[in-house]
Amino acid sequence: MVRMNTGARRYDVVVIGSGIGGLTAALTAARRGRGVLVLEAGKQLGGFTNPFERRHYGFDPGIHYLGECGPGGAFRRLLDGLGLDRVRFRELSPDGFDRLVFPGYEVATCRGVDRYEDRLAKDFPRDRDGLGRFFALLRGFRAAMSALSGKSARERLGALPHLPIFLRYGRATYGELLDDLVADPLLKAVLAAQGGDYGLPPSRASAMVGLGVLDHYLVGGAWFPVGGSRALRDAFVDALREAGATLERSRPVSRVLVRGGRAAGVLCADGEEIQADAVISNADAVTTYRDLVGTPHLPTRLRRKVARTAPSLGAVCLFVGTDLDLTQTTMTDANVWHFSSANLDEVYAPADRGALPSADFFFLSSPSLKDPDSPGKAPPGHHTVELVTLAPFEPFSRWAGAKTMRRGEDYDRLKADLGDRWLAAAERYVPGLRGHVQVLEVATPVTAQSFVGTPRGSIYGPEHTPDLIGPFRYGAKSPIDGLFLCGSSVLGCGVVPCAASGRIAGKLATAR
Ligand SMILES: Cc1cc2nc3c(=O)[nH]c(=O)nc-3n(C[C@H](O)[C@H](O)[C@H](O)COP(=O)(O)OP(=O)(O)OC[C@H]3O[C@@H](n4cnc5c(N)ncnc54)[C@H](O)[C@@H]3O)c2cc1C
Repeated sequence: MVRMNTGARRYDVVVIGSGIGGLTAALTAARRGRGVLVLEAGKQLGGFTNPFERRHYGFDPGIHYLGECGPGGAFRRLLDGLGLDRVRFRELSPDGFDRLVFPGYEVATCRGVDRYEDRLAKDFPRDRDGLGRFFALLRGFRAAMSALSGKSARERLGALPHLPIFLRYGRATYGELLDDLVADPLLKAVLAAQGGDYGLPPSRASAMVGLGVLDHYLVGGAWFPVGGSRALRDAFVDALREAGATLERSRPVSRVLVRGGRAAGVLCADGEEIQADAVISNADAVTTYRDLVGTPHLPTRLRRKVARTAPSLGAVCLFVGTDLDLTQTTMTDANVWHFSSANLDEVYAPADRGALPSADFFFLSSPSLKDPDSPGKAPPGHHTVELVTLAPFEPFSRWAGAKTMRRGEDYDRLKADLGDRWLAAAERYVPGLRGHVQVLEVATPVTAQSFVGTPRGSIYGPEHTPDLIGPFRYGAKSPIDGLFLCGSSVLGCGVVPCAASGRIAGKLATAR
């Protein structure tokens, strides 16, 4: 499938980047018999799904839980359709996979829309009717989305009865939707608690993404890949190699070659030009259009959209390997969402104004409790703990572009402070953790920027505001013939939407 021509390498499809979107796009094209080259800028494949090890502990930065992995789930079907039935998942406790902890109130999000509705209605009896309307809307949203993904026009027409949801809330914030339906501020915060999964408070997030994330986990439960993100990433990489694709690491692409108005290949940073019938970019849409394609090639409307697109927040992450037996603590396989207040605007305020995050808003989980039978996670009796908190780029921007491990003493001191602060936060749920740390790593937005190349160290792609969601986000098909996009800029962030965008891009790129 690789055609040598005039000295330059030539492939049917070149994929820029090997995040889950890029890997899915590449495998989709390879399964259709195309010659595929994946060029990854990083030293390792996988983008945010690239795992890492410290001594005997394995960490999974970009996967804490996934929806749609059970029998019949959309991700299970996508994997099976690509011949990846080797990927297996373990379900997190269906009775409570997310513990939402607010001052004076705690509730666990469980599998099953009806069950969660009942659980919340018991706690918020005065909002029982509003909750009924909210969950009816959520059910309608799912019915519409599954109709819209149907193959035939007839199936897609099934979305029609639910059109009012999109007419009313398609351009609304999630906060506006919640204000319409429920009254209690604490209940609103509970229904928006998973906003950390896309990095926005309800006052700024699209209503569609608020509903979408709840739906993603409530309907079929939350799952973790057996073997962690390594097992998922490696299944794609192995299948790609078996299908004859070429994957090259440490190969940053500096340009998408546009000739005669169509994508003709790529130029690597080392000067190699590679020709291709189709190019699929898994890099962020702004990076792709502004830096790799170049704004002179873009239609005016797209140029304006690129100029006004803001990246989502980054994160400070703490990765801990401990010899504490977490099975003896209150930690389970559930994620803990810890909030200092039910006023989510207040909770997000420090990050929104560019300050270091407060130690009172974080997401805590133990991957080793989610994946107890995988030997790669931690030695017997030991565990891993990961804490994530959303963070802006500003406090870290002076180290942008500096080499990993060479950012200097100030950076090391800041990381040590953050490590201390967040270990203290984690001790609320894992008492004694500080005295039992075997390994500790702190990642900041500059870590994401240097390892995954995201703008301002963002972890979720372009912000999920109403003007950047659904048809207003970036399409898998670009206005440049032969150029396609996948990853968090397309359907939204999260492993499953990114993989789904890769499937779409891979099909479009091989349609001709
Ligand atoms: C801390 C954290 C926790 C998360 N938790 C979850 C979770 O529990 N569940 C969930 O579903 N999602 C989670 N996510 C989000 C999820 O991991 C991401 O949305 C998803 O993995 C992004 O995939 P992507 O396809 O956009 O590619 P990315 O992972 O963004 O990878 C893009 C790749 O392209 C490469 N690249 C960029 N530019 C170039 C270039 N010029 N040349 C060559 N290569 C290039 C990069 O090096 C990178 O490898 C989490 C993310 C983070 C950071």
